[in-house]
Amino acid sequence: MDKIKMTTPIVEMDGDEMTRILWQMIKDHLLLPYIDLNTEYYDLGLEFRDKTNDQVTIDSANATKKYKVAVKCATITPNADRVKEYNLKEMWKSPNGTIRAILDGTVFRAPIVVRGIEPCVMNWKKPITIARHAYGDVYKGSEMKIPGTGKVELVYTAEDGSETRELVHSFNGPGIVQGMHNLNDSIESFARSCFNYALDTCQDVWFATKDTISKKYDHTFKDIFQDIFEADYEDKFKEAGITYFYTLIDDAVARVMKSEGGYIWACKNYDGDVMSDMISSAFGSLAMMTSVLVSPDGDYEYEAAHGTVQRHYYKHLKGEETSTNSVATIFAWTGALRKRGELDGNAELAAFADKLEQATIDTIEAGEMTKDLALITTIPNPTSLNSEEFIKAIAKRL
Ligand code: NAP
Ligand code: MG
Repeated sequence: MDKIKMTTPIVEMDGDEMTRILWQMIKDHLLLPYIDLNTEYYDLGLEFRDKTNDQVTIDSANATKKYKVAVKCATITPNADRVKEYNLKEMWKSPNGTIRAILDGTVFRAPIVVRGIEPCVMNWKKPITIARHAYGDVYKGSEMKIPGTGKVELVYTAEDGSETRELVHSFNGPGIVQGMHNLNDSIESFARSCFNYALDTCQDVWFATKDTISKKYDHTFKDIFQDIFEADYEDKFKEAGITYFYTLIDDAVARVMKSEGGYIWACKNYDGDVMSDMISSAFGSLAMMTSVLVSPDGDYEYEAAHGTVQRHYYKHLKGEETSTNSVATIFAWTGALRKRGELDGNAELAAFADKLEQATIDTIEAGEMTKDLALITTIPNPTSLNSEEFIKAIAKRL
């Protein structure tokens, strides 16, 4: 059998711990036998990040701008323990944060739906994709404790020195205050990423804020989305048969619970933080969640939503058997391969991605799965496989 050829490379970002082990197994059993894999390899494992003073992370993000498609393994974000464990020169920043800052994107997270892993919300038939704005609001806020009587104002000082003031509150006793901001440019990128992703995946977009209460702040989000939609997307959406729907955040939450799923829910930063945890746990498992960063220029970086599964890695190092779920990492690869196929007009590559996803889903639906799923499945008498057995069971079907 001839292997599938690739014309343009995918940026491959290797990672850490258990997911690094899965990464190699996936390549060995599921990719290399079928594809002449063309990747530009960047080792984002913590040792090499430390060795290159994190330059490798920056290089990998810039390569993503060049080739437009990347696939990333989970990586360690160092804390004090990791600095000791790996004898690091510095507490390097989160690679995801660095990559996001360079690509300026929005993160889309969607559950991988299989029969036998049922959502808690019975009417959810299709995945709900959360698109979280990843800049500003309370995550870049300034706060003060107010000790007693006095007034708090917002002051804007323009370049010419002129001041505009807005009273926050005249305090008669102790209290608290918070100031936060966002940028029109960042909100515009967010809107474009959501609309582009909707066209890509042929799904409606829902967006919600509290614009009735926050008549300037939240209303600006609403207005920017509407302006960009009307200027650049309305016709394309009509053609694709999809819609853009704006409502109030409380109405959106109520509608999500009653819906069938199958749309993109664009969320402001805080709403996305809170709601993505609700959606992922209600759909079953973080290991059954895809995650892709989409930049406003149309660059795509695919990854798993979970971390490096440290606990399993330490078992693996001791020679003990692990049953780590590789589905999200497999889907990161298929997402990247399909996108590469689409961009290059390589139908064979895109079709391979579909088949690998189907083989993965079929394996679970046939009752063969890792331990985390075996514990929650509604399939009677599931077979619990170890990390490698599960990947080999998929290879057999593929
Ligand atoms: P984690 O890797 O998400 O794992 C937490 C727990 O969730 C695991 O111990 C395991 O539970 C379960 N789990 C997660 N993924 C699983 C999978 N694929 N299969 C089976 N079970 C899975 O979080 P962590 O162990 O707290 O974090 C480890 C490292 O990951 C940290 O250094 C953090 O910086 C990094 N991290 C990276 C990313 C990223 O690169 N995108 C995201 C988050 C965290 P049981 O132990 O009960 O089996
Ligand atoms: Mg959260």
